Amino acid sequence: MEAKEEAAEWTTARLKLHILRCDLCNGRLTPPVYQNEQGFAACHKCQKTLTPSSSSTPGYIRNHALEKVIESLSIPCSHSAHGCNEYLPYLGSSIANHEKDCSYAPRRRCFIKKCAFEAPNGALVQHLTAEHRIKIHYFSYEVPLRVSIDPDEPLLVLRASDDGVDFVLFNSVDKCSEYHNFSVVCCSQSRPSKKIFSKLALADEGIEIWLKIPVEQWDGLFCTTAFLVVPPYFYGPDGKIDLKVSMHVED
Ligand SMILES: [Zn+2]
Ligand SMILES: [Zn+2]
Ligand SMILES: [Zn+2]
Repeated sequence: MEAKEEAAEWTTARLKLHILRCDLCNGRLTPPVYQNEQGFAACHKCQKTLTPSSSSTPGYIRNHALEKVIESLSIPCSHSAHGCNEYLPYLGSSIANHEKDCSYAPRRRCFIKKCAFEAPNGALVQHLTAEHRIKIHYFSYEVPLRVSIDPDEPLLVLRASDDGVDFVLFNSVDKCSEYHNFSVVCCSQSRPSKKIFSKLALADEGIEIWLKIPVEQWDGLFCTTAFLVVPPYFYGPDGKIDLKVSMHVED
């Protein structure tokens, strides 16, 4: 009888994950979850900003019901479309750990020419930093970052401080014209849930032309619709190319 009840506890349901976001800052909700006097869900950071309508109320209460939903939730591995049947807890790092090593994750060749290393997207950046000594440049979304790239440097890794998502800024050179083509791809384990744009410009004080390009998930090919083209005579005095890069998340 007990076993029957246990089996009945699990069912597969479909859920729109965006409902598990804070109604105030849109951040991902994890326990403790609160709600304000109007019933809107608030994360623990936003809870501190909730002001009571009268001195007799605190302005918020814990939302234990929503916490229970979040705690009991398991979500499919992001490689389910490739055949993985694993469901892992929504909370904690077990899903990220699984996806990194998931045998169904499509493997990509290392970006560096002549390197035969292959791994899923989530492990490529780790390989680039460990084996090819590629430095990670940290940035915040919406905030322009100035980077200097050597004309011979094939790429830079850009990591969002906000959510840890990795991007690669490619520097490919057209052999005939020697013009440099710059573009950005996302190199995170799973496809970001929101549309991301890169804005690229030459960090030349006299010129301010930003190129806005949608950022795609790295799929082993050059998956970009446009490049920022920089002719060799725009090298800086130190022989490097100075760029301004800013990344934007569209709601
Ligand atoms: Zn919040
Ligand atoms: Zn998997
Ligand atoms: Zn490599």
